[in-house]
Amino acid sequence: MMKNIPIWQDIKTKKYPKLEEDAETDILIIGGGITGLSTFYELKNNPCKIILVDKYLLGYGATSRSTAKITYLQENIYTKLKNSFDFNTAKLYYESQKEAIKQIVDICHKNDFDCDLEPNSSYLYTTKKSEINKIEEEYNILEMFGEKPQKGITLPNNKKVKSQIYVNNTYVFHPLKYIHELARISHNKEHLIYENTNIEEIVKQNNLFYCKAGDYTIKARQVVVASHYPNFLFPYLFPLKCYIEKSTLIATKEKNINKFNAINISNPILSIRNYQDYYIHVGSTHNLCFDTYPSSDYPDLLKQIPSKNISYNWSNHDIMTYDNLPFIGEIKPNLFLATGFNTWGMTGGVLSSLILKDLLEKRPNKYEYIFNPLRNNKEKLLKYPVNIFSNTYSFIASKINLHKKAYKKNPYYTELNGQKVAIYKDENNKEHIVYSTCPHLGCSLIFNKEEKTWDCPCHGSRFTIEGKSIIGPSDYDISYDKKN
Ligand SMILES: Cc1cc2nc3c(=O)[nH]c(=O)nc-3n(C[C@H](O)[C@H](O)[C@H](O)COP(=O)(O)OP(=O)(O)OC[C@H]3O[C@@H](n4cnc5c(N)ncnc54)[C@H](O)[C@@H]3O)c2cc1C
Repeated sequence: MMKNIPIWQDIKTKKYPKLEEDAETDILIIGGGITGLSTFYELKNNPCKIILVDKYLLGYGATSRSTAKITYLQENIYTKLKNSFDFNTAKLYYESQKEAIKQIVDICHKNDFDCDLEPNSSYLYTTKKSEINKIEEEYNILEMFGEKPQKGITLPNNKKVKSQIYVNNTYVFHPLKYIHELARISHNKEHLIYENTNIEEIVKQNNLFYCKAGDYTIKARQVVVASHYPNFLFPYLFPLKCYIEKSTLIATKEKNINKFNAINISNPILSIRNYQDYYIHVGSTHNLCFDTYPSSDYPDLLKQIPSKNISYNWSNHDIMTYDNLPFIGEIKPNLFLATGFNTWGMTGGVLSSLILKDLLEKRPNKYEYIFNPLRNNKEKLLKYPVNIFSNTYSFIASKINLHKKAYKKNPYYTELNGQKVAIYKDENNKEHIVYSTCPHLGCSLIFNKEEKTWDCPCHGSRFTIEGKSIIGPSDYDISYDKKN
């Protein structure tokens, strides 16, 4: 039977406590995905007090919804960086990804991690004659870096393509197992982890950050925002500096599996990797703001994959920057940010931890300049109007109720005690009532009928059918309170 959850979440994981009192710490890390936990790990030998909090469960954000390829062959990133910056920036990015890969492999081997890490060749291909030159360009830059990619016209699953290149020194792993291994070996009496602890607000007073988590406050000297979407960094104008890309993923069970991972260079993107008896396919990628009601992402991806033995299906969002470089670094004294990994956050998150370790401990880092989150450049500024348009479009589209017409019976939208609500009846006929407006910026929520979640079409907040906030910028749940 098909499961509407990420294949990685189909395991039992250790649970960590919720914060139940005020706390004081030297370093607070907000977010228990690959970025936050890698940073927590890197600070393992730091004598300071450290607290890591996650608003839900460790690894349940973008990290356990990804394909978890650990690769430096990332579409035609080096051509893009060489064209929009210069050769040296492209080379520095390449070196940073190689360093992150080495770090993951070293950590796994040194600590004997049980996380299904294995070498896995990465392919970049095109099925279009018109794109052969793009593959050639990327090949040439990789050669200039000293790499020796191989060439061909067939993928390991026998798919014929117009051109492909591949490299061997790349890996795959199980992202949720990796996260929990990091947590297991890094937490101790001075380095604490709390789950279900949502930071709602950060206020700086007298060189201390006061971070509100429900009824409690965490006082911290330094704060790392590794929450994927850094909504509390007002007025950093984050929604204008990036956009959110949504993709659908399907895992199919197969008799014959070839061990490899591949991504095309074209639009629409199609990506694949093996895991045990499964192929994981990614597609239907688009700017979240232009989502359709109801979503056609899942059927569209189904049309593109040959196998119909679907075992899992889910979706994921990542934060995309306009100059193809992540935001990693200090945005105010002692306030650090790491996000915008452009769908390459396994390496990006680990790279962030290496940079942040240096910055937190007041040492320079050679990548500090290119990933500076406060950088301004032409690409970014030119996109401000585009982003204002797409944010406004998704807000208005949600408000004029396009999706409400699509779902007439279950779920349905109504008003209770003057409040806009949506009601979903589960398979046991139990009603789940939620407020139908996203607490982040007020967009109307849409129902994700595959995964049974309430999703915000503007900035990607997601809620369970009971209304618990599980992903994205919203700080608050949407469960309907009958007393109101
Ligand atoms: C379809 C798809 C496929 C991908 N495949 C790959 C791949 O193969 N290889 C690769 O390198 N990258 C891949 N990525 C990218 C990768 O998934 C992300 O870049 C990466 O997981 C981001 O990690 P993170 O730790 O920054 O964020 P997350 O994993 O989202 O972690 C952030 C955490 O912060 C918590 N949080 C949020 N707000 C708060 C708050 N207020 N208080 C407390 N906690 C909070 C969340 O609960 C969450 O657990 C893919 C992305 C997509 C969309």
